[in-house]
Amino acid sequence: MVIGHEITHGFDDNGRNFNEKGDLVDWWTEVSARMFKEQSECMVNQYGNFTWDLAGGQHLNGINTLGENIADNGGIRQAYKSYVNFVKKNGEEKLLPGLDFSHKQLFFLNFAQVWCGTFRPEYAVNAIKTDAHSPGHFRVLGTLQNTPEFSEAFQCPSADYMNPVKKCRVW
Ligand SMILES: [Zn+2]
Repeated sequence: MVIGHEITHGFDDNGRNFNEKGDLVDWWTEVSARMFKEQSECMVNQYGNFTWDLAGGQHLNGINTLGENIADNGGIRQAYKSYVNFVKKNGEEKLLPGLDFSHKQLFFLNFAQVWCGTFRPEYAVNAIKTDAHSPGHFRVLGTLQNTPEFSEAFQCPSADYMNPVKKCRVW
């Protein structure tokens, strides 16, 4: 997921402005650029609607966190595809004893646990203004709301909070 995240940065709202040599060159077709902006706008609104209790209920800044959110969403998609490929090549793995979870569910649980953590409120108030990353809690909610495979794995009803009808996808 992290490797996919970092590669996706090459094609986020900042990385997309550079060509394959790292030069600041606009190499996108007009259609691609327009579609990118449309899809980005979706994520700006989605993340900008999250409010963080630890930061006194302030809204996240969907614009400042856009590049990281694009990378998070691309990363989880690529990681999941890789896992599905792994199973295709190597066959289904046995279920883990004592855990009532499928491997697809475990994939998403493991992803979510990466971002377990908490902050002092003083830090949260600072981070919400200065950190280009969304807080861990929303890195999980935002990406998984956009991931149909997550809702499939956990059988989230349609239009559930974690399975919104409108999903954002840049990559
Ligand atoms: Zn990043």
